Amino acid sequence: MIDIQRIWQDACQKIVGIEGVNAISYSVWIQSLTPLCVKDNTLILLAPSVNNKHVVNRSYKSAIQAALQSIGSIFTDVRVIVDDEKDFYMKEIEEYSEQEAAPRIEKGTQFISRYTFDNFVVGESNKLAFHAAQSVAKSPGVAENTYLSFNPLFLYGGVGLGKTHLLHSIGNYVNEHMPNLKVLYTPTEKLTNDYVEAISNNRNEKGVFNLHAFREKYRTVDMLMLDDVQFLQKRTGLQEVVFHIFNDLYQNGKQIVLTSDRPPSEIATLEDRLRSRFEGGLIADIGQPNLEMRIAIIRKKMILEKIAVNDDVVYYLAERIDSNIRELEGSLAKVIFYAKLKGLPYPDIDTAKEALKNTVQKKNGIDSSDIIQATCNYFNISQSDIISKKRTKDIAEARMIAIYIITEMLSLPLVTIGQIFGGRDYSTIIHSRDKIAAAMKDDPDTIRAVKDIKSMLN
Ligand code: ADP
Ligand code: MG
Repeated sequence: MIDIQRIWQDACQKIVGIEGVNAISYSVWIQSLTPLCVKDNTLILLAPSVNNKHVVNRSYKSAIQAALQSIGSIFTDVRVIVDDEKDFYMKEIEEYSEQEAAPRIEKGTQFISRYTFDNFVVGESNKLAFHAAQSVAKSPGVAENTYLSFNPLFLYGGVGLGKTHLLHSIGNYVNEHMPNLKVLYTPTEKLTNDYVEAISNNRNEKGVFNLHAFREKYRTVDMLMLDDVQFLQKRTGLQEVVFHIFNDLYQNGKQIVLTSDRPPSEIATLEDRLRSRFEGGLIADIGQPNLEMRIAIIRKKMILEKIAVNDDVVYYLAERIDSNIRELEGSLAKVIFYAKLKGLPYPDIDTAKEALKNTVQKKNGIDSSDIIQATCNYFNISQSDIISKKRTKDIAEARMIAIYIITEMLSLPLVTIGQIFGGRDYSTIIHSRDKIAAAMKDDPDTIRAVKDIKSMLN
């Protein structure tokens, strides 16, 4: 049986960069497609909306085909359908039986080109993982010193926090600087599929992907990167084979890098001997990014995609989407897309709110963009003015009041508030806060303004 999920995932890994597909168009249009079945060598993809279907048909069909071709898929065509048409294809699927599997192609040295160390934003939550990954890329298989071995390097952290990005960065770096080294990246599911295929094939026949070929494939490399090892199943023989491959590589000074969503000690399905191997080098965790880092990541993304986004939109996104960088990127893409639909040169805050109204749940009610908006409404000035360097009396006054209310209501670091207000120094924030705090003692206009703005927030 053909694993169309797998094929589709592989194709998706390749598609960015093909025929003008960028990360944005990918996450807006292509990521939302679901592979349904194969009919007459045509891969049937389910789109979430009629509009999505039309856009893909119009603009991305040939890129999808090219991506499928590049992974060696036998499907020469794709068809995008919507829910209404699904029944027709689902009826067919039962009649559809085994077909020849897609030819195997080796793509060991191919890494996603935008997943580089340069494009990775480093902060408190990921610096150990980042530096360890870099160190491994620069000197694979070599111990930092006698006390500190980076072999294996085990990176763990929640979904969408950059583990796969780091593995590809290592791959891209080694390919560029040590092109003679053979680096193999594999998602654990792929390794498992390979294994299943290998044990079902004839043991002795030459040229067949059997268990021997499987072992050779994985142990004749200079670096093995195994992504998401929490998926390593307790399947008869599988962990044993992996154990032997691990030992072979390790004893020959070859680098091993592993990732998981949790530390080895918490992977319940892991056999003890593998667990202790996985724990034998450096274990580095990746935590959730703080606000500053999230802002930096959005900015980086904007540079990479050559897009402009207002600061208030950047903060709006960064404040609300706080646990998953993939989601952060997806939301940015969505906001940009909405702005395009509206014909705006770049998204404004209203567009951002509209785009994300179903995705974003506000955590504790109010955030800085609400306060800024309410203050602007109260003083009848624009959001870009309040963030700008303008110093006219009414704007400066409104700005100071917004800053005061933010410091009062939210527990944001002063530096961050400075960033929200167009990169002002934190001493300016302190000055504004203190000035309004003083006015709150005896100036009736200020007292009223603050009270009214706060009541607008509820
Ligand atoms: P994981 O493998 O941990 O689930 P990924 O490596 O797939 O996560 O990362 C998800 C997305 O977030 C990718 O597009 C990646 O480029 C991006 N990303 C994650 N961490 C960072 C970072 N520190 N800097 C820039 N982009 C990042
Ligand atoms: Mg990953």
